[in-house]
Amino acid sequence: MIIDSHEHLMLPSELQIEKMNEAGVDKTILFTTTPHPEKVSTLTEFKNEISVLFNILGGKNTIEANRKRMKKDILDMMSVLEKYSDRFYGFGSVPLGMSFEETTEWIERYIIKNRLKGIGEFTPGNDEQISQLETIFKVLEGYDKLPVWIHTFNPVTLNGIKIIEKFTLKYSDTPVIFGHMGGYNWMEVTEFVKNTQNAYMDLSAAFSTLALKMIISEIPKKCFFSSDAPYGDPLLNRQMIEYLSPSKKITAKILGENIMELLELE
Ligand SMILES: [Zn+2]
Repeated sequence: MIIDSHEHLMLPSELQIEKMNEAGVDKTILFTTTPHPEKVSTLTEFKNEISVLFNILGGKNTIEANRKRMKKDILDMMSVLEKYSDRFYGFGSVPLGMSFEETTEWIERYIIKNRLKGIGEFTPGNDEQISQLETIFKVLEGYDKLPVWIHTFNPVTLNGIKIIEKFTLKYSDTPVIFGHMGGYNWMEVTEFVKNTQNAYMDLSAAFSTLALKMIISEIPKKCFFSSDAPYGDPLLNRQMIEYLSPSKKITAKILGENIMELLELE
């Protein structure tokens, strides 16, 4: 089974499924999205569309605006998950900055009730927001192994990554997926994932095939293929892993078996 472990919701869904078919991807784990860059064709259109993402990444939105946006984004995703339940699983977003009680209520209502497989993508814009992740970890102590997916490329810094590592060690029953290979800090994150049982690595947004190759050989059982579509292409990301992997056995793990085991997928 080939599983793209991280794609954002693309519209129309038929286009997303077409890209999956083209790449030979059986199932995809969907994440919500606010911008839809798959719909644009010029740089100007792209800049307009993506400014929404930069505001989110920069942490410029208020909690109330984030709650409203995430509710809508989860609803959008749920309608696709229901319509194409044979092709997709989902992760759901949770706003940062809420109290323990509010966070619990949100997770119950939008994650557990919707039978989502995990939480994320968190895109903390600064270290203060990364520190706010602790509330999420505290709430998750009350749940059975619900993984957290965190964006660890820019604007997350090495210091931010260290805070995430601290939480990963402290809340060791919660699996943490370090998104986009830790970005420029991939060496630090690879070593951490290797030595920490509940830490995992997402392989999207590779800026260096050398980095990708080293990660595959260092932590073959703890990393997951993903395209981060529409920002990456499922077919090219799959081919990159197949090309760089030292064996067919490891390729099969990275392209599907590892994430199936973590999420207990059938
Ligand atoms: Zn991301």
